[in-house]
Amino acid sequence: MAHEIASACKCKLCGETIIGQAGLILDAGLAGLDPANQRTAQFTLRLADHVIRKHPHENKALETKALEFLGMLRLANYATSDRGILEQRDFLRWTVHQATLNGRLSDEKLTTAAVDFAGKVVDLCVASLILQVPAPEHVERVSVSLKAQAAETLAEILNGLREIIEEPGRYQVTAPAALAVPQDGQTRS
Ligand SMILES: [Zn+2]
Repeated sequence: MAHEIASACKCKLCGETIIGQAGLILDAGLAGLDPANQRTAQFTLRLADHVIRKHPHENKALETKALEFLGMLRLANYATSDRGILEQRDFLRWTVHQATLNGRLSDEKLTTAAVDFAGKVVDLCVASLILQVPAPEHVERVSVSLKAQAAETLAEILNGLREIIEEPGRYQVTAPAALAVPQDGQTRS
């Protein structure tokens, strides 16, 4: 697999452009990586360093997000029927999931996909039926309402799948229960 060499990244927070190094600075910690990956790893460290040093406030918010992920991973090590723990673990999983979704299927796209697909399926059925029935014009007439019904059914199915995949309303934006993940060495009073 070919590696694309990154050359510049523009910070969305301040607009500063950070240029990737042309050559490699050998780093023992990155010794196991091939040259392209080693360069990307070095560049990644520089980009992370910029966020840490120049944007401490935003970085703090990122660290809070990271703690949510950490909390979820820790709780994932337990088998339990404790409802509070199960809900907290699921809430943390949902939080990470919402933050890392690659995109959301809009109502408009969902409807367009349902109408397109239903139309194609009904057209295929009609094309096949027309050759076999004595009154093909009747088949063509009912195909319009068939398309509408099929599109409606398909939209319902797609909407159900979207709910399962995106989980948009599973929780409110705030935790359902007292979500105060204790930091290392601390206990809740
Ligand atoms: Zn910046």
